[in-house]
Amino acid sequence: MSENHTGTAAPTLLERDAGLLWHPYANLDAGALYCVNSAAGSQLELAGPGGSHRVIDGMSSWWSAVHGYNHPTLNAAAHAQIEDYSHVMFGGLTHAPAVELAERLRAAAPPGLEHVFLADSGSVSIEVALKTAVQYQGARRRAGRHRFLALRGGYHGDTLGAMGVCDPVDGMHSAFPGLVAGHLFASRPPRARFEPDAGNAEGGLWAYDTEALEAWEGQVRRQVAETTDTLAGIVVEPVLQGAGGMYVYPPQVLRILRAIADEEDLVFILDEIATGFGRTGKYFAGEWAGVVPDLMCVGKALTGGYVTLAALLVGQKVARVIAASDTDTILHGPTFMGNPLACRIAAASMDLLAIPDAGGAPAWKTAVTALQTGLHTGLQPAMELACVSDVRVLGGIGVIALDRPVDVTALTHAAVRAGAWVRPFRNLVYLMPPYVAEPEELSRLCSAVTGAIAEVHA
Ligand SMILES: *Cc1c(COP(=O)(O)O)cnc(C)c1O
Repeated sequence: MSENHTGTAAPTLLERDAGLLWHPYANLDAGALYCVNSAAGSQLELAGPGGSHRVIDGMSSWWSAVHGYNHPTLNAAAHAQIEDYSHVMFGGLTHAPAVELAERLRAAAPPGLEHVFLADSGSVSIEVALKTAVQYQGARRRAGRHRFLALRGGYHGDTLGAMGVCDPVDGMHSAFPGLVAGHLFASRPPRARFEPDAGNAEGGLWAYDTEALEAWEGQVRRQVAETTDTLAGIVVEPVLQGAGGMYVYPPQVLRILRAIADEEDLVFILDEIATGFGRTGKYFAGEWAGVVPDLMCVGKALTGGYVTLAALLVGQKVARVIAASDTDTILHGPTFMGNPLACRIAAASMDLLAIPDAGGAPAWKTAVTALQTGLHTGLQPAMELACVSDVRVLGGIGVIALDRPVDVTALTHAAVRAGAWVRPFRNLVYLMPPYVAEPEELSRLCSAVTGAIAEVHA
């Protein structure tokens, strides 16, 4: 509580927030636990129970703030664009920020993804991808193809179309009867582990049950054969299912799905919204399998977490069919499409990722390799806790799985007291720190989180 001039305590921001604002998937009356006073580098200063706390950010604001907060280069890009103009419509007009960002995306993307559709958020880019796939099938005179093959445990966003391809149970499809389309869900592929190994050209080795994968492939092929004339495409998060459970599966799955898509002329969509821009150890996670999708969605880290922006990258095959169709356009066009402020920051963020280090490796690669090593070492002690069933690391992602649901509020408070910001869900406490986290910050983050788990659950 702070004192105002009459001597009575003024309500804090937390108190003013309660009952006024909704937070993601949270009760209206108690949606926020802390208030952010400042944010810089990999650290946040929070106010809440116990006063103010300086914490290391283990979340990168839901995977987005890869360069941390208050980054001078991104600040400068934002200021410069605001001095020019913050927004102009994209209908009939273009501008340098959009063109320069699209050129960077095309250069960074797998070969063949030559065209860019800018969207407001990850979910919206998924909507556009699904619509584009259905338009493609329509243009190919394959009417009735409007369903998608997706994976159990997947997450693709919260808007209706995107929700429809999320896991049907976790995505709470039953709460929205009639609004969520009936798609085809394949079971989760077998789990994979990535074992870091500096001596290997890929930086490590994938381990998984090859027989289980063969069985999975057979099952998916049977499902597709039964429903193929209603399917428009396949949509998956490559290699790592994020919000659906931080689940890592073998890259080989992507080759299998690519082959099925080719055989059946389905549009193959990779949702790189969480995995893109280096997080898994490849610039795009689809590179683990060397597959090129027909459509690819990027978002989250695209602007370095500064403002919302996403993009759909479109391969030549789909673009040509759409261009030759009766409508000849992608049937979407939001008000803030191609927002110059967001594009300018995104281009600056991609440039930061690409800066070569002394050995010539791009900055993101060096940073993510260091995160992988630091998480691997830093999270080892968590394996000693009786309540921990698994610890897994891939690139800049560290996951601690408990043998029980996490007490989210108690764990959040314990972690903040110990100097870490995390947002666990289900039985998972995961870390996805900013790429700029110092080795010392990373080890403090790992021990704070391990300590908090021991305090609350051991
Ligand atoms: C976050 C996320 C989305 C949705 O993006 P929003 O910007 O929240 O709409 C879609 N797919 C994946 C894989 C995500 O992680």
